[in-house]
Amino acid sequence: MRFKTGVVAMTRRTDGKPGWMLDLKTSDGASREDFDFVAICTGQFSDPQTLSLPGEEAFKAQGGQILHSSSYNDATLAMGRKVVVLGGSKSATDIAVNAVDSGAGEVTIVYCEPVWRIPYFIGGLVNFKRILYIRAQEQMFASWGIGPLARLAHMIAKPMVWANWRGLEGLLKAQFKLGTCKMVPETRIEDDVNCSVPIATPGFFPMVADGRIKAIRGTFDHYAANTVVISNGERVSADIAVLAIGYKLGVPFLPEAYRVKLVDPDGQYRLYRLIANPDLPDLGFVGFNSSFCTVLCADLAAHWLVRYADGQLAHQPSEREMRDNIEMMLHFKRVERPAAGVYGGLCVAPYHYKHFDELLADIGATKRRRSALAEMFTPPDADAYAQFLASAPNYHAAA
Ligand SMILES: Cc1cc2nc3c(=O)[nH]c(=O)nc-3n(C[C@H](O)[C@H](O)[C@H](O)COP(=O)(O)OP(=O)(O)OC[C@H]3O[C@@H](n4cnc5c(N)ncnc54)[C@H](O)[C@@H]3O)c2cc1C
Repeated sequence: MRFKTGVVAMTRRTDGKPGWMLDLKTSDGASREDFDFVAICTGQFSDPQTLSLPGEEAFKAQGGQILHSSSYNDATLAMGRKVVVLGGSKSATDIAVNAVDSGAGEVTIVYCEPVWRIPYFIGGLVNFKRILYIRAQEQMFASWGIGPLARLAHMIAKPMVWANWRGLEGLLKAQFKLGTCKMVPETRIEDDVNCSVPIATPGFFPMVADGRIKAIRGTFDHYAANTVVISNGERVSADIAVLAIGYKLGVPFLPEAYRVKLVDPDGQYRLYRLIANPDLPDLGFVGFNSSFCTVLCADLAAHWLVRYADGQLAHQPSEREMRDNIEMMLHFKRVERPAAGVYGGLCVAPYHYKHFDELLADIGATKRRRSALAEMFTPPDADAYAQFLASAPNYHAAA
C-alpha cells in the first residue's frame, strides 16, 4: 500500500516477464516499478466531469462561483446566496435540498428530463429494498443468456409484470405528487431500472411543489454577468453554480493500444464478468461492476480476481469462452436491454443476483442460496455471502 502515489501510465514489462511497468508519481518525484499483476480499483466516481461554457470568466469576475458537486462540501457556502444546480440525479437533488435547509436565498435546479426516483420508504412505510431489491423482483426482468423456456415464462407473465410496474408508477406519482411538481417521467419505470435510478432525496419533491426549489427543464447555455442563461432562454440570477454532472469513466493511464481492446467506440466496456478481458493480460478490475450494493460487488469481484489471476477459479474460463461471453453480453446491452448499457455497460442492476450467482459458481462456492423464502423475498445479505464464500475451495496465493 503506497499512499499519496498516483499511477500516471503503465506499459508491458520490458524484462520479458508477465506483468506491467507502472509510472508512479509522488511528491518526491517520479519512479517506475514492475508488477506481476495489476488490479485496477480506480472507481467510477473519482474524476469529476467538467463543463466549460461561454461567459464563465465574467460570471466569476462578478463574484460568482462555479464548482463541481464533489466540491460542495460546506453547507455554509449556500447561506443567504442564490444557488443554481445543474443536473437531475442524486447529487443535484441532495445539494438543492441542502441549500434550502442551509438558508440559501434562492435555489434553482436545472435538469434535462424527469426521471423515476425511488423513495427510501415506499408509500412512506416499506423500505424500498424489501420490495425492489429482492430476487423475486429481479426475475421480472428477462436477463442475458436465458433459454426458450425462460423466455416463454416471461411472455406468459408479461401482463402481471406490466401491472406490477404500472402500480408502482401510480404509487410514486401519488407519494411524490409528481403531477403537481410537473415531473412525471415520460418513460416506463421498468425500462429505466439501472444504476442511474436515484433514491429521492427526502424533502426534494415537497420543496419543488411549494416553490422553495424552482425546477427548470433544460441545461445551462452560457453565463452572462451574474446570471446563468438556460437553454430555454430563461435567465437565473446566481451567486453559485453547482455542476452536479457526474464523473468521467475511464482508465487514462492504460496505453491506447490496450484501451481500444477494453472500450468499444460506443463506450461499452469489454469485460468478462465486468472484471477481466483476455486481451488485457495480467490485469483485472475491481469495483467496475457497479450496482445498488457496490461494496458486495467489489468484494466478490476481488475474490474472483485473485483466483482468476492465479488460475484457481473452480471454473477458470478459456479465452474463447471469455470472448464469446463478452460478445453475448454486448449484444444484450446494445439490443435486448439498452438500459443495461449505462455507465459503459458496467452496471449490474437490476441483475445483482444473477451476477453474484455467476461469480460464486466460478469461484466454486457450493452454497449459493439461503432458504427458498429468504432468497426470493429478502434483500442480499452480507453474512450470507460470507457463508457462500466460505463454502468455496480455500484460496492460497500462488508463490
Ligand atoms: C455522490 C455519490 C454518492 C454515492 N452513494 C452511494 C451509496 O449510497 N451507496 C453505495 O453503495 N455507493 C454509493 N456511491 C458509490 C460509491 O461511492 C462507489 O461505488 C465506491 O466509492 C466505489 O469504491 P471504489 O474503491 O471502487 O472507488 P473510489 O471510491 O472511486 O476510489 C478510487 C480510488 O482510486 C484512486 N485513483 C484513481 N485514479 C488513480 C491513479 N491513476 N493512481 C492512483 N490512484 C488513483 C482515487 O484517488 C481513489 O482513492 C456513491 C457515489 C457518489 C459519487
